[in-house]
Amino acid sequence: MRRWLGISLVVAVTGVTVAALWVTQRDPRLVAVTAAPTRVMGTSCTLTAVVPLRRQEAARRAMHEAETVLRRTEAHMSTHLERSELSRLNAAGAGAIVHLSADTMAVLEAARRLHGETEGAFDATCRPLVELWRDAGRAGRLPEPPALLQARGRSRWDLFELRQDGVVKRTAGARVDLGGIAKGWGIDRAIEELERAGVRGALVEVGGDLRVVGTRPDRSPWSVDVRHPFAEGVVATLRLTNGAVATSGNYARFVTIDGRRYSHIVDPRSGWPAESTPSVTVVAPDALTADAWATALSVLGPWGLARLERRVDIHAMLVTGTPESCAVHTTVGFANLLSAPPRLGCLQAR
Ligand code: AMP
Ligand code: MG
Repeated sequence: MRRWLGISLVVAVTGVTVAALWVTQRDPRLVAVTAAPTRVMGTSCTLTAVVPLRRQEAARRAMHEAETVLRRTEAHMSTHLERSELSRLNAAGAGAIVHLSADTMAVLEAARRLHGETEGAFDATCRPLVELWRDAGRAGRLPEPPALLQARGRSRWDLFELRQDGVVKRTAGARVDLGGIAKGWGIDRAIEELERAGVRGALVEVGGDLRVVGTRPDRSPWSVDVRHPFAEGVVATLRLTNGAVATSGNYARFVTIDGRRYSHIVDPRSGWPAESTPSVTVVAPDALTADAWATALSVLGPWGLARLERRVDIHAMLVTGTPESCAVHTTVGFANLLSAPPRLGCLQAR
């Protein structure tokens, strides 16, 4: 009898030990490792990885890789860098193939697809128009109609032939601008680097656009604040475990001509700056989609928001109007992601 009791005790103790080990293996203490704040793509960048305590060094290495990916994206796709692949394409003449990396080709293909998906509102071929309005802002004068006509004529996808390994331009003056999408693409690749390292959660944020996976160390969802377009403070707080958030709008970036503000986003349909949508926030499964759609909705306004209701994967919030008279519009899906209704102190439309 004593022998059986002894054996049962050993079995019970072993069982408890195995169970405890199993629980700690499955549920180890998680910590958030945050990389030193840095700058990339002309803006701030934050990287955070959630890992078990003993994996901190691996997380740091993965974050270093993620940062390298973001810098490579900038080196390839920036129009601010004279030697970037994109600048090389924009400076090229007609007829000859410009060889580009697989990364740049992938973003160009995505940009062309999104041109169709957004009914022409997202148009990466709009560089001639962007430059025209940038120069108009510097001169403090509206562009001359013939210059506007010429820039519109050069902002068209049918002036670019996308091949496997490069692009052929049909007109020398045709130019591309990936400023509304490359950041999102870089964020997605950076998240992939962190996921490859086996993180339990991650946050990659570049200039206010971000993507999260998994959870925070206490296993709660990530919390994302959307800034008020006209004042200090927060309009809404999103709770996400997997997904991307991008914000566009003209409250931060604009040119002033004759005392009137013009958005840095152009409406490809008219060639004029987009009518002011002070703030657009988009939630999508990946940052490329969120980034491009945020730019597109700055052009489309509430009409575009209504069209988005058909998409189950993309949710958005728009703030329209002026500080004196403004309105918040959300898709149903966006409202469902909020911990509380938007707080703007203005009329709320849905
Ligand atoms: P975002 O801040 O992501 O909305 O991107 C704005 C940038 O995208 C601008 O500074 C331009 O470089 C570029 N851009 C402007 N208008 C458009 C447009 N209609 N479609 C695509 N890119 C645009
Ligand atoms: Mg964008």
